[in-house]
Amino acid sequence: MKLSLVVPCYNEEDNVEKFYDEVKKSFLGKIENYEIIFVNDGSKDKTMKKLKEIYHNRQDTVVKVIGFSRNFGKEAAIYAGIKQAKGEYTTIIDADLQQRPEVVLEMVKVLDENADYDCVAAFQEKRSEGKVLTFFKNVFYKIINKVADTEFISGASDFRTFRSTVREAIIGMSEYHRFSKGIFSWVGFETKFIPYVAEKRNAGNSKWSFRKLFKYGMDGIISFSVAPLKLATWVGMISAFMSILYMFIVFIQKIFFGINVPGHATIVTLLLFIGGMQLFFLGILGEYISKMYIQEKNRPIYITRETLGIEKEQENR
Ligand code: UDP
Ligand code: MG
Repeated sequence: MKLSLVVPCYNEEDNVEKFYDEVKKSFLGKIENYEIIFVNDGSKDKTMKKLKEIYHNRQDTVVKVIGFSRNFGKEAAIYAGIKQAKGEYTTIIDADLQQRPEVVLEMVKVLDENADYDCVAAFQEKRSEGKVLTFFKNVFYKIINKVADTEFISGASDFRTFRSTVREAIIGMSEYHRFSKGIFSWVGFETKFIPYVAEKRNAGNSKWSFRKLFKYGMDGIISFSVAPLKLATWVGMISAFMSILYMFIVFIQKIFFGINVPGHATIVTLLLFIGGMQLFFLGILGEYISKMYIQEKNRPIYITRETLGIEKEQENR
């Protein structure tokens, strides 16, 4: 098989059929042997019903469906999909047609023609979001590139096509807290970045709110860097050093100028500041510990409720 499309779907009832049609249309005569793996990530609307209709009505062996028992998140859906992928190449693509199937053809061409590349990733040259969100996203990339060992490309999405070697490597990373951008850069391989323009969403709403994005970003930093843990050491060392300096000042003041009772405000401010810093770093510690705690339980990344066109579900850890 040439290509596997992995399509995470969460509340995409008005998109999956159109997606299927568009893929069929644009792949016609260009790619013969491919599969579309829809992963229904516990949608609350009629997505599963629509997927079943596509599967049964079209009698198309190209279609495969994995249905989760509840919403496990896009990352889990991607993982489930690529575990089932059988193609020489695998593509991760959204169901909302923001990412065009024609771009997939472009990616396939790059891999066909350059044996040196293992992965082709699409990145948005111009962000279609508002100024505020773009600003925060840029700040995020600045921070994560400073603190993480691997490189993160701003604007790069999960929209990518890769060889089976990359797929195997990703499947091998069975961590519970999945952050695709990090996983892709962590496994390495030669990646070519091609620009693409994200279209408007076909139907439905984006599942990302600012709050969710913030949490996602934090999780990403914590999953791929231990720098926040070291921050406490540095801040602690610096403030200890400063307090020694200040001690000398107080000493000298006392010896030469007699006892001078410093302002009440200074003491209160310092006390609150140090207390705040301690709680803050405790919180950071807590973030790491909570992630270890969940990972330690070794829970499955997702649970399958039903599948269509798939013979045997592999273990989902
Ligand atoms: N998605 C998913 N599970 C979720 C949230 C999103 O499988 O919990 C899927 C969604 O159906 C879509 C893709 O992930 O195919 C991207 O989501 P969305 O379009 O909401 O994100 P955006 O394009 O706004 O970044
Ligand atoms: Mg989208």
